[in-house]
Parts: sequence; C-alpha cells; structure tokens
Amino acid sequence: QNQSHSVLITGSTSGIGLAIAHCFARAGHHVMLHGLASDETAQALRAEFAGYSGNQGFSAADISTEAGCAQLVADTREAIGNPSILINNAGIQHTAPAHEFPAEKWQQILAINLSAGFFLSRDLLPAMRSNGWGRIINIASVHGLVASEHKSAYCAAKHGLVGLTKVLALENADRNITANAICPGWVETPLIQPQIENIAREQQVDLDTARAELVGAKQPMARATNPSAIGELALYLCGEFANTITGAALPVDGGWSAQ
Ligand code: NAD
Repeated sequence: QNQSHSVLITGSTSGIGLAIAHCFARAGHHVMLHGLASDETAQALRAEFAGYSGNQGFSAADISTEAGCAQLVADTREAIGNPSILINNAGIQHTAPAHEFPAEKWQQILAINLSAGFFLSRDLLPAMRSNGWGRIINIASVHGLVASEHKSAYCAAKHGLVGLTKVLALENADRNITANAICPGWVETPLIQPQIENIAREQQVDLDTARAELVGAKQPMARATNPSAIGELALYLCGEFANTITGAALPVDGGWSAQ
C-alpha cells in the first residue's frame, strides 16, 4: 500500500469511477483517468487532480470496441506506464422489457459493461503476470448477483462480469494477482438519474420522493451508497491485508442481495 502503483480506472470522468480515482490519487498512486468527455471537461479534471503527488493521464478512448480498448491501453502506457491495477468501471444502462429491447442497446451494453473488461484484462495481464503482482477490480453490480425486470442486457453483462472475475482469479492465483468484483446496489451518480426521473414522471412526485421510492423498493437500507465507499473498498482490495481475497463478488447494497 505504501508503494505507488499505476492504476487504470475506466469511466473515471463521472460517478463511481471519478470517486475511485480520487481515492487512489489521494493514496499516492498514479491514475489514468478515462471516459467520454470533451477536451474542456478533461482539462477541468486534470486540474482537479493536479494537487495529488502522483502522475495523471487522461484518455477519451471509446471502449465499446476491441480497437478502442487497445487505444486505451496504449494511451495509459504512454501517460503513466504499465498499470498494475486495472479497475473496470465504465458502464451504461438502458431499461426496457426484453420483448421491446433495442438490439443496438443490447450490443452496446454487452460491449461496454462486459467485453471491454475482458479485452483490457487480457491485454494487461501478461505484464502483471511477469511482474508477479496485479489487481483487477470489476465494478459489477447487485445485478451481477440478482435480477430486476427491464434490465436484461445489464443483468446479462453484469452476471457475465462476475463470471469473468472468477475465471481471472483462478488463472492468476499463482502469480499474486487477485481479481474481484464489487457489486453495488444504488449509488448516487448520473447513471441512475433517468430511472429517478421516470418514477417522478409516472407517479407525478418530486425527484427526492422518486429517489427514495427507487432505492427503498429494493434495499432494506433505503439509502443510496456514497461513490467514495466504492473507492475505499477498491483501495482496500489493493492493500496487503486483502491479498487472499480473490474471485469474490462483494455486495455493497444496503442488504438488497441478502433477501
Ligand atoms: P456514470 O454514468 O456516472 O459514469 C459512467 C462512466 O463510463 C463515464 O465516465 C463515461 O464516460 C464512461 N463511459 C460510458 N460509455 C463509455 C464508452 N463507450 N467508452 C468509454 N467510456 C465510457 O455511471 P456510474 O453510476 O458511476 O457507474 C459506474 C459503474 O458502476 C458502471 O459499470 C455501473 O454499471 C456500475 N454501477 C452503478 C450503480 C449506480 O447505482 N450508480 C450501481 C451498481 C453498479
């Protein structure tokens, strides 16, 4: 933990990824920021991180394709060197019943939420294996463990990501490399805003009421998780005391998956 690592965090321009990036930067690591962002936003982000002791880089590679993932790997190596910690966090959501689900949304969700994690792991593992140390953390979801209606693509991708995590854990157990999934319930980020707005519109209530309704419908603890809580857990998973935690899918979900 005292050592500085190079850390690639996908989708770190917003929400959970941004909070994770701050946690790792605060701990002295070199962080690669990444996400679909304008030059202006990227510049503002770099300014936001400039006070930390480690180095930072930024890439706007679209990781919905294998080529985009390769671009991100190249950008990362150029900016902060070869990452020994990979955090697959970028993800998108679309809700609709399966019998009405648009094909392009299905493909996009599988590509970003699942395949990108595979391509990036595949490309970064050889160096981790030859160094004899590495950490892969996949930000899955409670929807990697249980299902909700209208989330066929998201649940399929996140269950797939949990499965991928377990395989990576087994294959790399002899090289000091751990692979784990974090499975958040509701976290207060832009990703869940459309779902809050839908409830507000359908039930003609204000946004606070809609948010409470959304969270409380699934979580015994009717409180959304702070994105920094996910960052702190990811940091813990990279620390010495976590070196035998591997292949796990750790819920941070206010009791949602305990039911
Ligand atoms: P967010 O919308 O705030 O951020 C998503 C990030 O992914 C952004 O940086 C965005 O630029 C990036 N991204 C999206 N598509 C991309 C693409 N094609 N190429 C490159 N980058 C892309 O979302 P969030 O809520 O912070 O979610 C982060 C992760 O956590 C996702 O995988 C999500 O499924 C998961 N998650 C979120 C919640 C929640 O309640 N917010 C709960 C469980 C799991």
